[in-house]
Amino acid sequence: MIDICIVGGGAAGMTAAICAKERNPALDILIIEKKEQMGKKILASGNGKCNLSNIRCQNFQETLAFFAHLGLLTRTDEEGRIYPYTEEARAVLMALKKRLEVLGIRTMVDSPVLSVDKEECFQIHTSRDCLQARKLLISCGGKAGPQFGTTGDGSKLAKQLGHHVTRLVPVLTAIDVKEDTSKMAGIRAKARVMLCHRSETLAEETGELQFTKTGVSGICVFNLSRFLLIPEGKTMKDGFEEYQILIDFFPDREDLLEVLTERRKMRGFEREHLLDFLVREPIAEYIYQLSKGDVKEMARLLRCFPLSPKGARGWDYAQVTKGGVSLDEIDLTAMKSRLIENLYFAGEVIDYDGPCGGYNLQNAFETGMLAGEEMANE
Ligand SMILES: Cc1cc2nc3c(=O)[nH]c(=O)nc-3n(C[C@H](O)[C@H](O)[C@H](O)COP(=O)(O)OP(=O)(O)OC[C@H]3O[C@@H](n4cnc5c(N)ncnc54)[C@H](O)[C@@H]3O)c2cc1C
Repeated sequence: MIDICIVGGGAAGMTAAICAKERNPALDILIIEKKEQMGKKILASGNGKCNLSNIRCQNFQETLAFFAHLGLLTRTDEEGRIYPYTEEARAVLMALKKRLEVLGIRTMVDSPVLSVDKEECFQIHTSRDCLQARKLLISCGGKAGPQFGTTGDGSKLAKQLGHHVTRLVPVLTAIDVKEDTSKMAGIRAKARVMLCHRSETLAEETGELQFTKTGVSGICVFNLSRFLLIPEGKTMKDGFEEYQILIDFFPDREDLLEVLTERRKMRGFEREHLLDFLVREPIAEYIYQLSKGDVKEMARLLRCFPLSPKGARGWDYAQVTKGGVSLDEIDLTAMKSRLIENLYFAGEVIDYDGPCGGYNLQNAFETGMLAGEEMANE
């Protein structure tokens, strides 16, 4: 009988294993991982640099202390994002793996867990055999980025044990729109971007926006995608009708009508050249067409450029899963199930999602630490 079985060898699972074993070295701990190696998503995170936390997260100091203890130095950029000092995600994964090895924590890769149930103890059915464990941690992540092993299995296993799972939605992803943006594809612009529902602003972000063939992308758009949800009772077809994206290319200027009026008097700025150098050419052309040459309308569109979302890009492109194991059913101080004794959860499998900037890995490390310490305590 295994003392602690951890299903999912990602950021949360590895952290939990290390914390449990350090607190109680006598424990027999096994991590079961579906893919051929653990922590594949860590390697892809932060564009290969792994933005592991953020100084705006309440408990970032604990994550820093944990990594300092593993021998990993970090650096913080001007926006508060924390990275390994070498800015390579590999360093984070290696630091975790090295400690797992030193502590003698057993790992089993290439072994998807297919189902779990509980009698006297937990029965864990993998593709190869059935294992028994006294305590079980589900840390299989969400559904975003299935290429890294996360296909929603954590939610299925939680349901098998009687837990409720809130609706899973791909977030931190590009947004596709109804308008034809293909001529603007690849163009970047610094802007304030708002997501509105009916005429209420749900969220706004300032940053670099990127047009794609089918819509918009960039960190500011990723963050807005967390609020683009199909209302209850609606479907993919009609669920986004009442949303609108508004782009303000000049958040710091109130005088665009004056600028355009002045330009009209200047040689070389006639008609379709009125918007020259104000926005990139394909955007200028688009606004000119939309305004039908009306100067007032051009000034308005530069500050209030409308797009109609038709959905967020799917699971393959999303970085994070919104929704997961219902938080009401978890004691969040210990990451312990309130329904089943000796069952724990950590990481993205729970109903938490944060914005870009290190919040999601912070959640994985923080909940992993809590679960690991708690599992070793009792
Ligand atoms: C491209 C990309 C970039 C990202 N960049 C950042 C970033 O810079 N900063 C940030 O904070 N967040 C980032 N994220 C999000 C962040 O990586 C995740 O929120 C975080 O890794 C979640 O950790 P986790 O341990 O819960 O799950 P994961 O790291 O996803 O690990 C879950 C593990 O469980 C395994 N597993 C799944 N099902 C089973 C099963 N049935 N049996 C056994 N094992 C199973 C999976 O193979 C996987 O290894 C990024 C995500 C992506 C996709």
